[in-house]
Amino acid sequence: MSQSVVGAFAPQPVSIPAIPVREIMPWAIFAGLLMLLALYFVGAEQGATSLIQGHTVHEFVHDGRHLLGFPCH
Ligand SMILES: [Zn+2]
Repeated sequence: MSQSVVGAFAPQPVSIPAIPVREIMPWAIFAGLLMLLALYFVGAEQGATSLIQGHTVHEFVHDGRHLLGFPCH
């Protein structure tokens, strides 16, 4: 195999584009709010702090609640 054929399959350097903080900040805030909402539903959506009537949401996230160590029953 000649050197030129080997060179054709050699890995090429890849430049990773830098994302400015100004562009990524709204998405980081949005993701943080979604995580806080998920944390609320997993950790506090029951009893007096419940926003939604019934046990549907509580039962839906029940395994996650126990997995993360939140007090439950
Ligand atoms: Zn439980």
